[in-house]
Amino acid sequence: MSEVERTVIIGSGPAGWSAAIYAARASLHPLLFEGTTKPEMIPLGQLAFTTEVENYAGFPAGNIRAFVESAVDKERHWNLPPAPKGHERDGQPHYAVQGVELMELMKQQALNFGTRVVGDDIVEVDFSQRPLVVKPASGPAVQAHTVIVATGARANYLGLESEHMYKNKGVSACAVCDGALPIYRSKPLAVIGGGDSAVEEATYLANLQGAETIYLIHRRDQLRASQIMQERALNHPKIKLVWNSAVEEVMGDGKQVTGLKLRNTVDKSLSELAVRGMFVAIGHTPNTDFLKGQLKMKPNGYIEWTQPFRTITSVEGVFAAGDVADDYYRQAITSAGTGCMAALDSERYLAEKGHS
Ligand SMILES: Cc1cc2nc3c(=O)[nH]c(=O)nc-3n(C[C@H](O)[C@H](O)[C@H](O)COP(=O)(O)OP(=O)(O)OC[C@H]3O[C@@H](n4cnc5c(N)ncnc54)[C@H](O)[C@@H]3O)c2cc1C
Repeated sequence: MSEVERTVIIGSGPAGWSAAIYAARASLHPLLFEGTTKPEMIPLGQLAFTTEVENYAGFPAGNIRAFVESAVDKERHWNLPPAPKGHERDGQPHYAVQGVELMELMKQQALNFGTRVVGDDIVEVDFSQRPLVVKPASGPAVQAHTVIVATGARANYLGLESEHMYKNKGVSACAVCDGALPIYRSKPLAVIGGGDSAVEEATYLANLQGAETIYLIHRRDQLRASQIMQERALNHPKIKLVWNSAVEEVMGDGKQVTGLKLRNTVDKSLSELAVRGMFVAIGHTPNTDFLKGQLKMKPNGYIEWTQPFRTITSVEGVFAAGDVADDYYRQAITSAGTGCMAALDSERYLAEKGHS
């Protein structure tokens, strides 16, 4: 094994890159494993699946492409999606930063300060020994004094082909992220699910200015959500419950969602519901399989932060950042925030142990 790393970061979403920026600027010379492409998981994280990001502070709509191209190394320009058409002001492009653009900027910032990036997955760890050990899918195991886990969580989808086809064209898994975008604004929409997060998503959409009917579609005849959340949904004038129904197909015109084909789970009859968007709210799966038995997890599989306002985990020297530990806020900016915290926690730990 080669020399012991001070900080290894696992994951390449907002949490991973923010941790890398802070760790690199603190001269920890971090080594970041950015993962590989798998179903519902790609390098650059969950934001790389979306189009415009309107709520990341510091990125109001504007001539973003000119800035991105000036900041990101030329050899990665191939990864930038085309600038959206029809978003011009005074003859210049004028749009909110796209997910991949924002993530390429974060990556660039981390590279500029000396982060070393490996395009591989970590498939196993051994946190029972010192130094800590992380094992990539290919290549030798790496020893480290500190490890920041920032592997995120993936949204669960229904698994329909038609659903996949209309992602970003009317299918989303995040109302707070996407609900205010023009394709959903003031349109009839459906939320799928029956738990607290489904009710929260439906309520969020129903409370947006100019909201149309929000259909909350659930496969049973009662919600799983807590009593208070249920009352919120049942009493909201814009939320309409559709009981005993499962989505059989997402319908559309090729460009955008136009409706849903629903199967009644009791009498098996089929019906159609005209909506312009579908928000899937059937939970998330944290990317923690490779950590089983190594770190304390919450019952839902998310890593447990063992101290309030710290990114400390059950193992000394191992820190967790972003959605892999946060099953509540799940936003890019909160993930970036805890990524920064994890790097600072890591730096202080290394100084305490004399490894700085
Ligand atoms: C469609 C969609 C739209 C969204 N829109 C918005 C929005 O507009 N605004 C907003 O704030 N939030 C939005 N979000 C939520 C936001 O994307 C997440 O909260 C955020 O990306 C979480 O960041 P993270 O760094 O914790 O994890 P992630 O972004 O999930 O990144 C984790 C990374 O770790 C890698 N990884 C996983 N396992 C391993 C491993 N074993 N080894 C190495 N690497 C690994 C993955 O490949 C991935 O690159 C959206 C989410 C989705 C799905």
